Amino acid sequence: MPDLLNLNKKELRDLLASWNEPAYRATQIERWLYLERVTDFDAMTNLTRDLRARLSDSATIGVPRAIAETKSKDGLTRKALLQLDDGNTVEAVLMLYADAPDSPQLEDASTALSMTRRTVCISTQVGCPIGCPFCATGQAGYIRNLAPGEIVSQVLHFARETPLTNIVIMGMGEPFMKFDVTWRAIETLTDPARFGMGARRITVSTSGEVPGIERMAREKLQVNLAVSLHAPDDKLRDKLVPLNRKYPLGKLMRAAREYIAKTNRRVTFEYALMDTVNDNPNQARALAKLLDGMLCHVNLIPLNPTASSPYKRTPPARVRQFAKVLTDANIATTLRVEKGIEIAAGCGQLRQAKH
Ligand code: SAH
Ligand code: SF4
Repeated sequence: MPDLLNLNKKELRDLLASWNEPAYRATQIERWLYLERVTDFDAMTNLTRDLRARLSDSATIGVPRAIAETKSKDGLTRKALLQLDDGNTVEAVLMLYADAPDSPQLEDASTALSMTRRTVCISTQVGCPIGCPFCATGQAGYIRNLAPGEIVSQVLHFARETPLTNIVIMGMGEPFMKFDVTWRAIETLTDPARFGMGARRITVSTSGEVPGIERMAREKLQVNLAVSLHAPDDKLRDKLVPLNRKYPLGKLMRAAREYIAKTNRRVTFEYALMDTVNDNPNQARALAKLLDGMLCHVNLIPLNPTASSPYKRTPPARVRQFAKVLTDANIATTLRVEKGIEIAAGCGQLRQAKH
């Protein structure tokens, strides 16, 4: 039975046409799925009883079950372990940001509404085949790709609680391993008659799957691209991001430069600072050289140490030193705000904890 969340606009219309239903039914169903976010067909009260019965008999609405949920002390980060139909689990995280640096503590959902940025971080695979050694998801191995509806359903899970302003595809998995699946989810999320999120409010992070970057450069939707770099040379990057052996830095940076030339959009490079591994000033200078003249921005991430990896976080003084080398070379640099460390909200960490 098809999960309706997997169907694109045309497929939903074709299905209804094959049942001799008028075309406007598709629009009504899309409203229920993506704006009202109902979880069963009985709630679709403007459909005929016959159509509701037929939908119940021959289709589903994928609703993942939250089997574990954790909330940071300040209430600003909420992480859910979501169980899919086949029993597999993925993580999704809601992060709330305020304008004011010292925002009030979150007491209830109504306070959540007053936060200006409400970002959800979603997964694209159960586990991840890339196997970055510092990443809890990579350490846990790979099980399968998600279906597009399973990607969308993570957003709907949190959208049922609070209106969202941003989506980052930075959870478990490499989103460009199955570009079409990820893109179909993005199309549903951005379609004004469906979820209706602005493309510019969505960011996809890749570990360097070059064909995906090339595909994205040709797409019209202005979705943001982030590339997980983590090392300024091939020798180190082969180890930290094993996909580098397939798409080394020369190829990756060429694809990123072409993406910028074609789209005129800024690329974010993510760089997780690991103590004595990738954080010395020479490496910062090598990174600055690699990115010289590019329309880009470096996001320095404090490493979230995982249970079974030897990598440690860079001390604050060296983080500042690293950032200074980049800014002195005129490279826009930010330090990622840490979210939910104490609730194991780092990539893959909630799933790694036993439930
Ligand atoms: N697989 C994709 C997207 C998901 S990971 C990718 O790698 O880009 C999102 C970001 O979190 C990536 O930059 C990833 O390298 C980083 N990350 C993974 N584990 C981390 C950890 N333990 N500490 C800090 N950042 C981590
Ligand atoms: Fe996969 Fe990204 Fe984790 Fe690497 S960092 S193992 S690509 S999820």
